[in-house]
Amino acid sequence: MFLCGTAHGPKHIGESLAQARAVAARAAAVLAKDRLRVSAQISWVDRERCAACLTCLRICPYLAPRVGVEHRVEIEPARCMGCGSCAAECPASAITLRHYAPNQVLAAIDGLLGAEPELPVDKVRGQGRSGAHV
Ligand code: SF4
Ligand code: SF4
Repeated sequence: MFLCGTAHGPKHIGESLAQARAVAARAAAVLAKDRLRVSAQISWVDRERCAACLTCLRICPYLAPRVGVEHRVEIEPARCMGCGSCAAECPASAITLRHYAPNQVLAAIDGLLGAEPELPVDKVRGQGRSGAHV
């Protein structure tokens, strides 16, 4: 979302027009691309655990979760901003924020404290180091 002119704050017409031109140029730069890169820090749903309670649909500020195959929730990667709210609220613990699975966080804390991690990070809930399902 881009803001300009008085939507941004009180300003003169000349300043508003200059901002509007700059915003149009920024928007055109985005729209001109065939593909956009998205963050790797996004949430994913374990369908086997999902109880279809729709809590994640209600709380996501970016409307990323949607009802998919067999009434299980899927998260649209391009919309997810990786805030982690859905992962924290999911009553079935079906959602994991990539790179922030519980064992990964614990392993990071162990690393900071100089202790050996209890489980290899690669084995965390079927998720590889790259974040891809294995
Ligand atoms: S909050 Fe969890 S259990 Fe409920 S619909 Fe979303 S993923 Fe499924
Ligand atoms: S991590 Fe945040 S932005 Fe992504 S689906 Fe969950 S609530 Fe929405």
